[in-house]
Amino acid sequence: MTNNRTLAILKPDCVRRCLTGEVLRRIEIAGFKICALQMQQLTSKHAEGFYEVHRERPFFRDLIDFMTSGPCVPMVLEKEDAVGRFRTFIGATDPEQADKGTIRRLFADSKAENIVHGSDSPENAQKEIAYFFGEPGIPADAK
Ligand code: ATP
Ligand code: MG
Repeated sequence: MTNNRTLAILKPDCVRRCLTGEVLRRIEIAGFKICALQMQQLTSKHAEGFYEVHRERPFFRDLIDFMTSGPCVPMVLEKEDAVGRFRTFIGATDPEQADKGTIRRLFADSKAENIVHGSDSPENAQKEIAYFFGEPGIPADAK
């Protein structure tokens, strides 16, 4: 499996706080090429499908409410070892645990509202990219 693409999402807190441009600028300066990008408000169904793996977790309902609370910006990023490098770039889930200089440490308010998503494996990156942007010849909204 090639590992040069990842799915990122600027979450609703990022857009609401007018940090979209700031975070995109940092993503580009860090050498990630933006290959696709859109702004959209997720439906509950779309957000639940995306975070299906967390369905049984106590924070699931709050997570879905947050992810559907306003527009977000999913995008496809390209760089060598994109998945691992982007996870390093954004920092740990909890901003208090995230390394200095990472996006979550710099901008996130809490573990729940943590500015940005990054795929956690090349396999999931491929699935998540298809989930938002479709596979060649299959529009995402046809799924
Ligand atoms: P993401 O998948 O959004 O990139 P992550 O991979 O760092 O984040 P996950 O464990 O996949 O973290 O959790 C998904 C999201 O669920 C987190 O980004 C956060 O918004 C929320 N979340 C995770 N753990 C908690 C928690 N203990 N309390 C509240 N929200 C949480
Ligand atoms: Mg995750």
